[in-house]
Amino acid sequence: MTSRSALDVLALPLGEFTFGPDDQWPGEAGLVVGYAVRHAGGVFLFDTGLAPPEPELDTFYAKYRVEVRPVLDALADAGIAHDEVTAIANCHLHVDHCGQNALFPNVPIYVQPAEWAAANEPDYTVSSALDFPGSHYVPVDGDHEPAPGIRVFATPGHSPGHQSLVVETPDGPILLAGQAVYSYGEWTATAGARDGSIDAPDRPAYARSVARMRALNPTRVLFGHDRRGWP
Ligand SMILES: [Zn+2]
Ligand SMILES: [Zn+2]
Repeated sequence: MTSRSALDVLALPLGEFTFGPDDQWPGEAGLVVGYAVRHAGGVFLFDTGLAPPEPELDTFYAKYRVEVRPVLDALADAGIAHDEVTAIANCHLHVDHCGQNALFPNVPIYVQPAEWAAANEPDYTVSSALDFPGSHYVPVDGDHEPAPGIRVFATPGHSPGHQSLVVETPDGPILLAGQAVYSYGEWTATAGARDGSIDAPDRPAYARSVARMRALNPTRVLFGHDRRGWP
């Protein structure tokens, strides 16, 4: 997973769950993966994983048999200290991707305004991930480069303000897709693969985002719900 450049991308296993009986893949195991990008100015964190259990989540977590992995443990296992994290982006603000944001007070969290608006509607996410002491969300619309060689890349479709991350390396761009593509098999158009386009709330936007990602011609693609990266 390490590229031959100043930018290192490290996978962070952030928890597991089981799809419910009404889901697309009932009874199957699911997982949540975040990524840490080490660069000259610190560590850019892409997703903080599942929120710790709280009463608001009891029903949801019981249904999905959620097992939360502390992001600080995952970072420590990757050799990264808590205070090395200097900036964050969540692929989107559902509870499995931003759940531990509150562990990072005063760290800028880049968010698409459309996602911020959605997250502040009822039943979208946990409020504890949005409002916490030192919460420092930075709304930025569309593509932008929060650190040299690290680009936030707007990929709406699964959610209104979904975003991916592009890490430039001498070998070409590494794409951290988040949930803009659900799985390795979806990226390779493998029949029967877990495919997030099928139940995407905005399917045309989802398709346009996938086309944009393919046009990047990435050398590597990593996913928020699949441990297996492409190629
Ligand atoms: Zn989601
Ligand atoms: Zn998700």
